[in-house]
Amino acid sequence: MEETGICPKCGSPLGPVQETKTGRKLQKCSTAGPYDPKSKPTGCTYVKWLAVEPQLLDEKCPKCGNQLVLAVTRFGKKMKKCSTGGWDAVAKKATGCDYVEWLTGVSKELDEKCPECGNKLVLYTTSAGKRMKKCSTGGWDKETRKPTGCKYVEWLKPGESETDSQGEEFLPVQE
Ligand SMILES: [Zn+2]
Ligand SMILES: [Zn+2]
Ligand SMILES: [Zn+2]
Repeated sequence: MEETGICPKCGSPLGPVQETKTGRKLQKCSTAGPYDPKSKPTGCTYVKWLAVEPQLLDEKCPKCGNQLVLAVTRFGKKMKKCSTGGWDAVAKKATGCDYVEWLTGVSKELDEKCPECGNKLVLYTTSAGKRMKKCSTGGWDKETRKPTGCKYVEWLKPGESETDSQGEEFLPVQE
């Protein structure tokens, strides 16, 4: 399902569809320069985010028994929702089953490098709304109950915010 288009900024064709680590899909303008975290972006900076298709899960909806799907919002926030649930854009109301379960914690890739190992940092927001920068190689081994990878973490003070608070595009849900 290749989607091609024209850049609304400069009129050049858009580049191929790329996928981020968080499963989001995007197309950059074909005139955009190669990605280099050390220098300023070259060329056109237009980015088109594509809707991520929900992934069917091997779980049943506790409300109606239909299959659940894993959906990702434009900002990388993940949720499980009922596959029968939908949004009627004309009537502006929810259709089908409204079961939604947000997955705790949100992470977002940053254009910053880990001071300890040089890998990318991610901005992680906990379900309680606390924010931290952590190394993208850091993880948690559920079997041994031990952290894996790099342990670099920098907690952000409340209010030290970024420009990502534009709201979610995957309507309609309430937390
Ligand atoms: Zn462009
Ligand atoms: Zn359901
Ligand atoms: Zn690191």
